[in-house]
Order: sequence, then structure tokens, then C-alpha cells
Amino acid sequence: MPVKEEKNGEEITNPYQIAQQLIRRAAESLDLPEGVYNILKKPKRVMKVSIPVRRDNGEYANFTGMRSQHIDILGPTKGGIRFHPGVNEDEVVALSMWMSLKSALVGLPFGGGKGGVIVNPEELSERELEELSRGYIRELEPIIGPDKDVPAPDVNTNGQIMGWMLDEFDRLRGKDVSGFITGKPVIIGGSEGRIEATGRGVVINIMEAAKRLNLELDKLSAVVQGFGNVGSITAKLLHEQGVKVIAVTDAGGGAYQSNGLDIVSLIDYVNAHGTVNGFEGSEHISNEQLFAADCDILVPAALENQITEDTAPTIKAKIVAEAANGPTTPQGNKIMEQKDIFVIPDILCNSGGVTVSYFEWVQNAMHYFWKEDEVNEKLKEKMENAFDSVYRMKMEKNASMRESAYLVGVGRLAEAMKARGWIKNWDMPIEC
Ligand code: NAD
Repeated sequence: MPVKEEKNGEEITNPYQIAQQLIRRAAESLDLPEGVYNILKKPKRVMKVSIPVRRDNGEYANFTGMRSQHIDILGPTKGGIRFHPGVNEDEVVALSMWMSLKSALVGLPFGGGKGGVIVNPEELSERELEELSRGYIRELEPIIGPDKDVPAPDVNTNGQIMGWMLDEFDRLRGKDVSGFITGKPVIIGGSEGRIEATGRGVVINIMEAAKRLNLELDKLSAVVQGFGNVGSITAKLLHEQGVKVIAVTDAGGGAYQSNGLDIVSLIDYVNAHGTVNGFEGSEHISNEQLFAADCDILVPAALENQITEDTAPTIKAKIVAEAANGPTTPQGNKIMEQKDIFVIPDILCNSGGVTVSYFEWVQNAMHYFWKEDEVNEKLKEKMENAFDSVYRMKMEKNASMRESAYLVGVGRLAEAMKARGWIKNWDMPIEC
């Protein structure tokens, strides 16, 4: 069945359908037996739970949580937990599929998982948020654990929430199980470098892309959509590399300065005001204006479906580094390909987070911890190798970076299936 870009002329924005399309296309291009796609197109398990939380006014609210576990042939499933009003099953399933590909691509012994709760955390007090976090873990306890499924932070969840979740899991098991969750504070077994890992990985990928395109970083400018964990660290590290970061946006607005924003002061401003909007000396900028800005590097680091058939034609950047998961629709992608933009696809670009989560899980198993420099050095090696595998596949198959990332990810999953005896007589087109 040919892969469709559109359904009845409408742009496809359902992330589950998008993930299925991309995997199908890779499986076809790798000449894999139909059965490989049939296995990869669905998650192994999705669990939906109700989480009652007693509100501060004494009334009970009941939140819906879910967890998708895609495939575990390389190791336990692994992936973040998102707290957002827009969480839905298709999104969580797609995110778990991307996690499988990401881990395979980087060479981590993990499958893909993802979780979420339909909630606007800003509407909860700290006590209510803690009760919700603990309740989520109590409900999912039978299917998670360090050798089954290992959660981590994602949108609107952080180290504190991971700490509450770990505490709840330890109480349920009656022992320390610190490797059950990653992204936790260092004092309770977190890894040095984990908070910065995703942004650091994004910047390593941008540096690799600039090398291949013969561009000098300190002559480049960038814009970043989203100024949370990933966006702010990416902006800070780009700034440190001499890249002029001229614009950023977040849910509360945007800040633009043609001669470059002072990112360190901007981070302080956001800590004090909760948004980049109104930063001293900056002009307001909308998301649409940010995508169309005259710059070399565009980093979407917020939510899905931001680069679309409407925004893609306006992009002037030479490099698009997909720090967010699923920021581009198939139509948006097609337009970027036609414009010859060098896209670093999400499953490669933001894989630094899961990589250092892997290091955290390894350190928890050894009960021995590395210094930050050691973690960053190991991350750099993993990121450069992953970029190189994708780039070599691109050269070998004359494919886009996105297609190549899927070819490497799906190819490695197929290799694991072959090693387990699920498929016969198939070889990966490049050694990686
Ligand atoms: P976060 O909650 O820390 O930050 C999200 C940012 O996006 C915030 O600044 C928010 O204001 C902004 N935002 C939300 N809606 C917006 C809008 N309409 N316009 C502009 N900005 C908007 O989340 P995060 O952890 O930084 O995650 C961002 C993305 O990166 C997500 O797609 C996530 O799945 C992906 N990701 C995160 C990690 C990680 O380690 N945190 C790892 C891999 C991928």
C-alpha cells in the first residue's frame, strides 16, 4: 500500500498515523518482510488508568493517565511522562514508537515507552501535583520497573516529580529501586548532566550538521521555539558556541533582538517572570514570525505539528534541528525537502535525553556515579556516532536525513528480530 501524505486533501497531523507512515516507508525501502511493519505499527501494550486526587477544597477530581509500551526487543521500554491537557492515546502511542526508533538509532538497550496524564498542572497546588504523580505510579506499578519500563521527565514534568514517583515506587516494592526512573535529582541517584542532556545533544547534532555543510558556527544565527528545559539549554549552549540567538518564543509570548539575545540574562528573566515575553531590550515576536525569521538555524523545541504546510514555506533557515518530538507534519516535511533545508529529524536530534537517561540507569545498576565531564564526553561520542550512521545512510540511499534516521532505526529493530529468529535472510544495507 503506497504511503499517503494527505487524507482527502487534508494535512495529516495525527502523530500515530505520521509515525506509522514513516516506519512503513522505511520498512518498504529496506525490503523488509511485511511482518516487520505489522509488528512495529502497533504498541505491545497501552494501559489507561484513573487517578483520583483529593483537591485542596476536599472534593475528589479524577484524572486519566496512560502508558504506551511499543516494543521491547532491545531491552526494557523507556520514555518520558507528559502532564498536559492535550495528552491523548494516539499522541502517547506515537511518542512511544519514536522512543523505540530513537534508542535503536543511538544503540541503547531500550525499547520505546511513553506516558501521560490529561491535566493542566498549573491548575494544581503542589500537594495536588504530588498526589497525582504518586497516584499515577501506584496505578502503573504492575507494568513498570527497571527491567520492564523506565519512565523519565517530558513536557511539564521535572526532577521533583521524578523524585515523588521514585519514592512511591520504592514504598510499593519495599526497597530502593532507583533505576526504575531517570531524570531524578542527583542526590537520590540522578545523573550529572541529565538536565542539560537533551539540549546538549541538540547542539552536538547542529555542530555535526554545520560541519557537513561547511558552515562556521560563530557566523550563524538561530531562533528557538519553546524555552523550557530543551529550548533554554539549546539556546544557552548555542550562545556559548558563538551562535547569535536572535529570537525565542514560549507559551507566554516571544522575544526578538536582531543583534542577539543575552541568553543567560533571559534565563534569569524567565525564572523570575515565567515567560520570555517582555524581556528588557527585546521586541515581541510571534511563532509565525519566528519561523519566518531571517536566520541560519531554526530549533522547534515546544510541541507537535508546528512546521506545517503554512509555516514551512516561510522558513529561511538552512538547518532545522527538531528538538521537539514530532514538530513537523508530512506536508511541512515535503516542503522543507523541496527547499533543500538540512533537517535534523527529532528521533536523532533530541536523543541526548534518553542517552543520558541510559547512563543514569547504568550508574544506578552499578551504584557508582560518573562526573559531569565524563557523562558529557560519553554523550558526545554517542551523538556523533548516531549522526554519522544516519549521514552515511543518507549518502548510501540518497535519502533525506529523516528517511535515513528511520532506515537506521527500523533496520536495527529488524536486525534484532532476525537475531531472535523472527525474520530470515535479510541484511542491513550499511554497517552501523
Ligand atoms: P518543557 O515543558 O520544559 O518546555 C516546553 C516549552 O514549550 C515551554 O517553554 C512552553 O512555554 C513552550 N510552549 C508551549 N506551547 C507553546 C507555543 N504554542 N508556542 C511556543 N512555545 C510553546 O518541555 P521540554 O522538556 O523542554 O520538552 C520540549 C519538547 O522536547 C517536547 O516535544 C518533548 O517531547 C521534547 N523532548 C524533551 C526531552 C527532555 O529531556 N525534556 C527529551 C526529548 C524530547
